[in-house]
Amino acid sequence: MGARLEETPGAQVSLTDPDARAMSSHGKGTDVVGYNVQFAVDAEHHLILAHEVTNIGSDRAQLASMGEKAREASGHESITVLADRGYYSGDQIVACDGAGVAPIVPKTETSGGALRGRFTIQDFVYDAAHDRYTCPAGHFLTQAKKRSTRGPDPDFVRYRNLDVCGDCPLKPRCTSERFQQIRRWKHEDVLDAMQRRLDRMPKAMTIRRRTAEHPFGTIKAWMGATHFLTRTLPNVKTEMSLQVLAYNLKRVIGLFGVSPLMRAIAA
Ligand code: SF4
Repeated sequence: MGARLEETPGAQVSLTDPDARAMSSHGKGTDVVGYNVQFAVDAEHHLILAHEVTNIGSDRAQLASMGEKAREASGHESITVLADRGYYSGDQIVACDGAGVAPIVPKTETSGGALRGRFTIQDFVYDAAHDRYTCPAGHFLTQAKKRSTRGPDPDFVRYRNLDVCGDCPLKPRCTSERFQQIRRWKHEDVLDAMQRRLDRMPKAMTIRRRTAEHPFGTIKAWMGATHFLTRTLPNVKTEMSLQVLAYNLKRVIGLFGVSPLMRAIAA
């Protein structure tokens, strides 16, 4: 068993289904070994535009591919995609940029600084016109000269002000270093643009919940809130596709009736 565990990618072996994997979950007592089902649901009719089944435990790498599938299925050149914070990934958000998919995903607060009463990056306001940050004490942090910054990381630029932090009364809430230094990713403007979209749509996550969770709830109820009937990834994908097809057919019949659906299929 030990040898088998070492040979398996991700060091996981499920004796029930060789393709099933542990899914990450924040809910207490909700850990599950199984599959990750992705739905992209249209906000107007709650039809499932695109779906996918993976055995990847987290949603972080799913945004761009699901967004593109949904855009293609919608027939629109560009769409807005609402996703929960589990989908927040800079690389995925950048991959959507310019591809007709405008994601709106809340940021994940990973530092824990806010919980300890410390400032977070949201407290530092970036001014694109002057390429500088304004810190909570109202001072400007500007780009550090490349050769004087620590770490040869070409994807990040550092902003700081060496003259102000030493005497700042807010320093205990800001940094334990000699001075504060903000790292800005080379694609940060794409993330900033997304944050502005989220700010303009304060109900985005409420809309997301009532849209995406609707088919999940309906299909789970149909399935009896139990396990998939089949095993291994290809079979589970087929099972899920049949569920999605049935859901969409019932939904269209419920919305428009049988005759318009028959006419649409024939056309
Ligand atoms: S410590 Fe420096 S960066 Fe932080 S609030 Fe004070 S002056 Fe601004």
